[in-house]
Amino acid sequence: MITFVGAGPGAEDLITVRGQNLLKKADIVIYAGSLVNPGLLSVCREDCRIYNSAKMTLEEVLDVMVQGEAQGKETVRLHTGDPCLYGAIREQMDALEQREIAYEVCPGVSSFCGAASALHAEYTLPGVSQSVVITRMAGRTPVPERESIRSFAAHQATMTVFLSAGMLEKLSEELILGGYAPGTPAAVVYKATWPDEKVLRCTVGTLAQTAEEAGVTKTALIVVGRVLEGEYERSKLYDPSFTTGFRKGDRTDG
Ligand code: SAH
Repeated sequence: MITFVGAGPGAEDLITVRGQNLLKKADIVIYAGSLVNPGLLSVCREDCRIYNSAKMTLEEVLDVMVQGEAQGKETVRLHTGDPCLYGAIREQMDALEQREIAYEVCPGVSSFCGAASALHAEYTLPGVSQSVVITRMAGRTPVPERESIRSFAAHQATMTVFLSAGMLEKLSEELILGGYAPGTPAAVVYKATWPDEKVLRCTVGTLAQTAEEAGVTKTALIVVGRVLEGEYERSKLYDPSFTTGFRKGDRTDG
């Protein structure tokens, strides 16, 4: 069996229990070495064969999986965060399906959740924003024009921007052109949950300068939105006057 496993954002104990159990019994592990903390592999068996996919092509990764499968091995394909985001897992799953090889997916804690924990942030604050945009700047991988940063910025929802730490001047420009005031709170979260995590609070207008001063050029997530500042309305869910399926409120009209 082949299992795609989300490694979590970085800290060794932020993989799921299921993911760690799969690592413990794996015969073969192929891990995304550019972002997965190698410390996660300390639970692997001594005879486990470990490959770093940062140095491999898709074809080479598939060869390891296919050969492992032919020998009845347990293979873990370890991706950073949750594999459903920018994980390039679809092409691997499709290739396995073509070969009629069974696989499963074990989710992980995405880095945008790791960044929220580092920031002590709630991305969905009543009266501020109830949506989170997960996006990226176009790089070598293009982004469809209708999903431009500028068009998302027009919503003033919370935004988490992946894979863009090297393009912060342009990101600021796009956010501002889309309608965010330059003074809107923002943050650069470098290596969220790793031991060398850095949380840099700034504004939409100072993203590039902030990252440069801290020497951050990669492995960072950009968070933008008024949820990073003070004001919001308290929740309805925990309001004493609000009746829910589990609790009767002290007011009947709400
Ligand atoms: N599947 C991953 C994302 C992979 S794309 C996930 O769910 O998090 C790689 C990008 O993710 C990086 O360029 C960076 O923007 C972000 N990233 C991954 N790990 C991170 C971390 N620990 N801290 C901040 N950003 C991180």
